[in-house]
Amino acid sequence: MFGVVPRVVWERHFKPDESNRVRIGLNSLLVRTGRENVLIDTGIGSKWDARGRDRYAIAHETDLLGELQRRGLAPEDIDIVINTHLHFDHAGTNTIERDGRVVPAFPRARYIAQRGEFEHACAPHERDRASYSLADYEPVMKAGQFDLIDGDAEIVPGMTAIKVAGHNRDLQCVKIESEGKTAFAFADLIPTTAHAPPAWVMGFDLYPVDTLEQKKRLIPQAISEDWICHFYHDPRTPFARLREQGGKIEISPLS
Ligand SMILES: [Zn+2]
Repeated sequence: MFGVVPRVVWERHFKPDESNRVRIGLNSLLVRTGRENVLIDTGIGSKWDARGRDRYAIAHETDLLGELQRRGLAPEDIDIVINTHLHFDHAGTNTIERDGRVVPAFPRARYIAQRGEFEHACAPHERDRASYSLADYEPVMKAGQFDLIDGDAEIVPGMTAIKVAGHNRDLQCVKIESEGKTAFAFADLIPTTAHAPPAWVMGFDLYPVDTLEQKKRLIPQAISEDWICHFYHDPRTPFARLREQGGKIEISPLS
């Protein structure tokens, strides 16, 4: 999770267990625009055998469909699913198992992904093959529910997908603008608040220098425009504002 950052430094933020695992969040984001219900990323899902569950120590303290239900939303109520990319920890509840078949979890939704990411996910290489599970996106494609986009695009008024290469070639972040305020889902560009310093780049990243450049471009904007920042993998602080204090990035958590 921390690339070239030495363990003695990162373990101040994340204490590893005896198998060298750290606690990571899966913070799917629900946006209710008044017209549409939009989900940004769908967690790690439930299509796991015992071996996979154990390898990643998948806790499922809560689950996406249950959380939606607690907010009065059935799967049919989701209009749009935005996949920032198609790694298994972001597209896991794109689909569910029902009667021995894997089907889209949100039967009415349009699923939005970058075309380049979809094509890559269908033919990954040795470096990132382990990050993809065909069952997360093939049934969605077969059901005709994918809208593949090329580059930046407005998804609904005020909500824009922004392609940001680094973690992989076709990651998209999501910018949400409303009533003069901006929220920004950083996805795996800045997975946790600990990854705010530019050099804290994950070892998973295919293009770490691009990640570095994008962070140096976007973080000053997040600070000067007072963005509400969303961190998908942060186990404690899904939302925060960023500030600069004496050349260092400070995190102000939001409830
Ligand atoms: Zn991820």
